[in-house]
Amino acid sequence: MSEAIQRENILATAAAYAKSPTSQAQRRVSILGATGSVGCSTLDLIGRHPNRYDVVALTANSNAELLAKQAIAHDAELAVLADPAGLDELKSALSGTSVEAAAGQEALMEAVARPADWTMAAIVGSAGLRPTLEAVRQGKSVALANKECLVSAGDIFMETVASSGTRLLPVDSEHSAGFQSIDPNASDAIEKITLTASGGPFRTWTREQIKTATPEDALNHPTWSMGDKLTIDSATLMNKGLELIEAFFLFPVEPDQLGVVVHPQSIVHCLVEYSDGSVLAQLSSPDMRTPIAYSLAWPERMWAPTERLDLAKIGSLDFEAPDNDRFPAPRMAIEALKANNGSTTVLNAANEIAVDAFLNRRIGLPSICTLVADTLEAVARDGLTKPKTLDDVLALDALSRTLARSLLPELV
Ligand code: NAD
Ligand code: MG
Repeated sequence: MSEAIQRENILATAAAYAKSPTSQAQRRVSILGATGSVGCSTLDLIGRHPNRYDVVALTANSNAELLAKQAIAHDAELAVLADPAGLDELKSALSGTSVEAAAGQEALMEAVARPADWTMAAIVGSAGLRPTLEAVRQGKSVALANKECLVSAGDIFMETVASSGTRLLPVDSEHSAGFQSIDPNASDAIEKITLTASGGPFRTWTREQIKTATPEDALNHPTWSMGDKLTIDSATLMNKGLELIEAFFLFPVEPDQLGVVVHPQSIVHCLVEYSDGSVLAQLSSPDMRTPIAYSLAWPERMWAPTERLDLAKIGSLDFEAPDNDRFPAPRMAIEALKANNGSTTVLNAANEIAVDAFLNRRIGLPSICTLVADTLEAVARDGLTKPKTLDDVLALDALSRTLARSLLPELV
């Protein structure tokens, strides 16, 4: 994607800010992935401001019980499961209410197309690709939590954002922080964007200790509470790799202008450095309800029930360089991004297979990056060409998963 399109996006968002109404008119909102960590936090905020938001559609993969509870509590129009197996349970849980129940991929896409002013895209993994792109095509506001859309299909995704006139609001805490710290009048003067990383639970572990890490160790994140996939990605720092790729597509910078600094307290989320030496950053307690609230209320701000920062109590904020030897994932991600040939799609797909294998105790934590590297190598051997359409992306994603699965036994 050209730099011009990226810059155009930032500037269009700033211009929309200047023109946007400041009224508190009720907005129609839908949540894709309502039962997950981001989805639940989003509904928590909506529930605290019931007069500002009208819930249209809530979707989930298979948790009919929770989805029905959420739909009733928030008086949603429609509740949809991606997995049709749970439809009977969903219907019976919603019987006697006015909430419509549906299931399956087609129903999910129909839910996305139902008119809404704002859609939260919080389905985990590349399963979120099609529904999120469909939400973007509606041309309203899309709050983007799903990072795999930009990692797997960044060019296609951002071109669709530009052509549909959708307002894309980053939800990932680092990107929300970057979005809040970018001076739209001086985007040309940005020299560097640095994402912070907590370092995860193994920050102080030796390479030998990391080999013995169990899923329970990895799921015990020191600062953030997130879904399992993302928590494992945080432990390997693959999450930071995915976020570097996200940042490239969201912000007007080249890959070499992106950096990572380890910051164990997770208070500073992103730093934007300008040519005059100024660095603008956003700080907040590590609670996703702050970036979600920012995207939900944008261009205004809303109250969120998060712990307020008391810097005197925190005392000190620490920063250290990432260790590329113990945690190779961010470097692998930047190399895949620079290759500009579909490698980021492969990296994402292989990582999903590897994380699943780790959670099922088939491989150790360091083997996650080994499997990703081996898959990248195997796909490159067969010749890799940059995907041009969503179908190309999905085909490359499927091929990468097949190859990753076939390489798994070598690591077990
Ligand atoms: P989660 O696993 O807690 O929830 C995922 C949601 O997606 C659930 O509602 C689930 O039902 C739904 N889902 C799963 N598979 C699906 C499928 N095949 N089809 C349709 N729906 C499906 O995940 P999460 O932690 O809430 O993260 C959601 C997305 O947001 C991820 O892409 C993650 O990387 C990103 N994100 C999360 C956080 C966080 O703090 N949790 C922060 C930044 C970004
Ligand atoms: Mg993040």
